[in-house]
Amino acid sequence: MKTEKLYHNDSYQITFQASIVEKYKDRERYALILNQTCFYPTSGGQINDRGVIEGLTVLAVEEENGKLIHYLQDEIKAAIGDTVTGRIDWQYRFDHMQQHTGQHILSGALMKLWQKDTQSFHMGEDICTLDIAAMVLDEQKVTELERLANQIIYEDRVIELYFVKNSAQLKEKSTLRIKNEQLEELRIIEIERFDKSACGGTHCHRTGEVGLIKIIGWENRKDKIRLSFLCGYRALTDYQQKHHIVKKLSHYFTTGVDQLEEKIIQLNEEQKELTKLYNKMEKRIIEGESEELKDKNRRKEKVFFLIEKLFMEQKIQNIRQIAQLLAKDEKTITILGAEKPEPVLCLTLSSDLNYPIKEIFNQVMFEFGGKGGGAKHFVLGKLEREEDVKQAYQRAIQLILSLEK
Ligand SMILES: [Zn+2]
Repeated sequence: MKTEKLYHNDSYQITFQASIVEKYKDRERYALILNQTCFYPTSGGQINDRGVIEGLTVLAVEEENGKLIHYLQDEIKAAIGDTVTGRIDWQYRFDHMQQHTGQHILSGALMKLWQKDTQSFHMGEDICTLDIAAMVLDEQKVTELERLANQIIYEDRVIELYFVKNSAQLKEKSTLRIKNEQLEELRIIEIERFDKSACGGTHCHRTGEVGLIKIIGWENRKDKIRLSFLCGYRALTDYQQKHHIVKKLSHYFTTGVDQLEEKIIQLNEEQKELTKLYNKMEKRIIEGESEELKDKNRRKEKVFFLIEKLFMEQKIQNIRQIAQLLAKDEKTITILGAEKPEPVLCLTLSSDLNYPIKEIFNQVMFEFGGKGGGAKHFVLGKLEREEDVKQAYQRAIQLILSLEK
């Protein structure tokens, strides 16, 4: 026995009574089949309704060969043949009605403006999408499409619902967008003097109830375009959120909303210039720092020069650059370290020397705990604990000096 779809005749019906036809456990789910229902199943791009049956939450609704299966959170106490009461979540249903009716309006507008048929529709929890055959779409065209769609809303046109026998003659009527040719009977949704299509979803009585249609994006796919859009409360919420963001930004940048874009571009350009200047200055500071180290911290050992410095604070990328500059000197070994912002140790060896500094570095990292790496003439790493830097640094010097023995 097929389930009678109460939503097919009245999408505004919220509560209903029905008798139990079947109940069973399907894996971990409690299935319930009634003689009739207001619960719309997931189909035709629309998500299923939410709500309760005898106080039990309906988790999902699916259709199988004309039977609607409600999956409940728990087993229902009532027996087969008993009468039960169900109630759908009206806010959730009305949102779906707004989205679905909005889709019909958009599809009608696409047909009116550019003779583009809707290939498919998908209703998501947050946004809806609609696919049409490939065409050139730009901001101007999207604005035109939104204008016509919203005009249909403001004209508050009547939306009629009726059933007709499916026939060959019907297909020839150019105004009808037929989606399912296998059905004996078609459920027609007709927007007064605008659009007619066969559809099984839940819709509004008048276009005005859709409130607002906003296209929020489109993407060109292989042979089609996917439009993303919002209707009704979803579009209102989106406007509220975006308005809130724009208002906050406008306050933050102390500028009018109309000058906001210009202001952000200008600040971004300034930021780029400042970054360039900063990098230039930092480079000079690093060069100065390495020159100073050569003057003050360089000492002659038996066969090589040793430059060493433990910074209280120095960024790892600066340590790297200073060390690279110092490694250019002849017969030089460098040891640099920093306690903050990260505990770092760096060893370099000029290209005219041949000592195992990498092995020394690995030895120190092994003894004190740390990670890092490099090549024969340059090694850099971070210690696990800041309090170990001094000792690790001294240990590295000790090991390097022992190379001469
Ligand atoms: Zn529909």
